[in-house]
Amino acid sequence: MSTTTKETLGFQAEVKQLLQLMIHSLYSNKEIFLRELISNASDACDKLRFEALNNAALYGDDTELSIRVRFDKAARTVTIADNGIGLSREEAIEHLGTIAKSGTREFFSALTGDQAKDAHLIGQFGVGFYSSFIVADKVTVVSRRAGLPADQAVCWESGGEGDFSVEITAKAERGTEVTLHLREGEDDFLDAWRLKSIIRKYSDHITLPILMAGEKWDEEKKEQAPSGEDETVNQANALWTRGKADISEAEYQEFYKHVAHDFENPLTWTHARVEGKQEYIQLLYIPARAPFDLWDRNARHGVKLYVKRVFIMDDAEKLMPLYLRFVRGVVDSADLPLNVSREILQESRDIESIRNGCARKVLALLESLADSEDAAGQAQYTQFWGEFGKVLKEGVGEDFANKEKIAGLLRFASTHADTPEETVALKAYIGRMKEGQEKIYYVTAETFKAAQNSPHLEIFRKKGIEVLLLSDKVDEWVVGNLSEFDGKSLQSVAKGGLDLGKLEDAAEKEETEKAAEEYKTLIERVKTALGERVKEVRVTHRLTGSPSCLVSEDFDMSGNLARMLKAAGQNAPDVKPILEINPQHPAVQRLKTEETRFDDWAALLFEQAVLAEGGQLEDPAGFVKRINDLMLALSASGQ
Ligand code: ADP
Ligand code: MG
Repeated sequence: MSTTTKETLGFQAEVKQLLQLMIHSLYSNKEIFLRELISNASDACDKLRFEALNNAALYGDDTELSIRVRFDKAARTVTIADNGIGLSREEAIEHLGTIAKSGTREFFSALTGDQAKDAHLIGQFGVGFYSSFIVADKVTVVSRRAGLPADQAVCWESGGEGDFSVEITAKAERGTEVTLHLREGEDDFLDAWRLKSIIRKYSDHITLPILMAGEKWDEEKKEQAPSGEDETVNQANALWTRGKADISEAEYQEFYKHVAHDFENPLTWTHARVEGKQEYIQLLYIPARAPFDLWDRNARHGVKLYVKRVFIMDDAEKLMPLYLRFVRGVVDSADLPLNVSREILQESRDIESIRNGCARKVLALLESLADSEDAAGQAQYTQFWGEFGKVLKEGVGEDFANKEKIAGLLRFASTHADTPEETVALKAYIGRMKEGQEKIYYVTAETFKAAQNSPHLEIFRKKGIEVLLLSDKVDEWVVGNLSEFDGKSLQSVAKGGLDLGKLEDAAEKEETEKAAEEYKTLIERVKTALGERVKEVRVTHRLTGSPSCLVSEDFDMSGNLARMLKAAGQNAPDVKPILEINPQHPAVQRLKTEETRFDDWAALLFEQAVLAEGGQLEDPAGFVKRINDLMLALSASGQ
């Protein structure tokens, strides 16, 4: 196929959908198209600089990188041009015709059809280049990839409906020119003052000069006329190199939107110049909302690495531990070599020390929010926890050096509240422990409801002892890696024999011992009836309302974790549970005299304990039959 002729191609289905949605829902904030296009131009120049580190020829004789904005009143166009890396024909098709972002599917399934809600989602997802179509009914991109000859440029054009065209063309200089043919009624963008004020508002932090034709007053014509000289509209210095006192809140926020490719303001940030063994500047932001690709451990757009103001790469993994992968921002090192490659980064001790410094800084920032006295700081931490808590939890097992700090930042649902949103910190839990309580008690389950209704909690409820309710998948990982906090050990209420230490009531203990003796024969019969399904059967005073529950040995895997592993298709050891029965319960007492249906009763005690844990029965149909048989038998006997 010849690539010189003009071809028309269809947008990827998602692009079409996105374009439609976006034009309607972002219209009230339409001027942001300029920010997005300038942000792309700036990224393109960063990429050129980086590629040129190994191939200086890419610059040709055009070494002054800049972005140029101009408009043409007669043609009703606005053009954003850069001399960055440019696009080849294939790149134009791929980058401007499809969305390669991870999380795209999640994004589309999250859309509701409600315009206000969707506008919010679109903002989070980021529309980038496509925002041009909010104000333009035709967009022309002429671009020449650095290193390609002048006659190998590409002209990409689209009306933002279903398709776009591409054609090989000629372009004298390297880089990209995006021309917006404005929609009817958008003429107010054809005004130097308006464009300049938008640039200053959103793009002041861009490190390259953003140039516009200078104007001067023409006394004769009584209007602004070209002065013949370029004017740099933005400050054009790297924002992070400026002093904190010289940077306004709005500037920090706009810079965040550029580095994070986010439409919303960040939750908070920290900006510091680190001196010592490694010298670097860190400007790190916590986003207000989790991105769509939070769970994609390979997602891009983390912290950008600069060396002496030169962009080196986007790389969340090397500059931030994985459990802080939601952090966005910039690290600018004064010491790393400019030609640092990914391979070098992998091994570099310097990077390791920067990463540790950054992690500590972020944790300190989070601590300051979590411990803040004022309501605003508290609310910020609550929001942070809601968005990123589950990711931060990974850190307990990942970052040994900061484990205690991370544990202090964790929040858990508990039996002291009715909803999963009302959480408690471990420190606060310890602060309100019962007199004589020595352990931090928790239960893990698949859902908050299952945790809340777990039969294992009955004795704790009765005694008013608080139990943490853990129902995130990652919680098993947390408790597996955190055996104590502040000198208090963490204890699952579904593991081991019930040992309440000083909280135990001597009378209760005695009663259980008595019951154990009294129920000895019964217990043996139940064990025989259940056979291989259980490891052991024993009486307990853990339960007050339920007849039975399952527990595991202290060092065995919890039933919840075993189920999770199996659901994920992994091998889980076949650990048999211990069945505990409540001697006070009428169903258990009745069993003492049961002859004909003993095995069915025993099976039911076991099966309901499995169900109460959120487990699955091996033989659900058998369970249903047993229930029905017993119901019929009970009604026949008139009980
Ligand atoms: P993002 O900037 O988040 O990657 P955009 O929608 O803004 O998403 O841009 C899509 C892609 O198009 C960019 O990743 C880049 O590959 C390409 N692109 C956009 N503008 C330019 C430009 N001025 N020069 C080179 N490539 C560009
Ligand atoms: Mg972009």
